[in-house]
Amino acid sequence: MSTIVDRFPTAGGATVEVAVRSGYFGRTDPTETYSVCSGCRDSDTVDWGWDPDCESGVQRHFDEGGKRSTPIALAWAKKHASRCRTAPTI
Ligand SMILES: [Zn+2]
Repeated sequence: MSTIVDRFPTAGGATVEVAVRSGYFGRTDPTETYSVCSGCRDSDTVDWGWDPDCESGVQRHFDEGGKRSTPIALAWAKKHASRCRTAPTI
């Protein structure tokens, strides 16, 4: 499951889509911010630091809600959108 956070039109007419989604099988709550360009298919993943092997259940380094990770992903998407000149493939 993923939720679209934002979309940026690229210089070439494609779209960079930024979404939060679960990066782990069996989990439904989001653990990463994922960006993908519909033109060149270039993508970027910012992991929120979920530790699947953490046995105590306490996630010390987990970026709850992607508060730090999503701005990093949005910056990547904006930068890519301003530079990518590939026409949409879909
Ligand atoms: Zn692109």
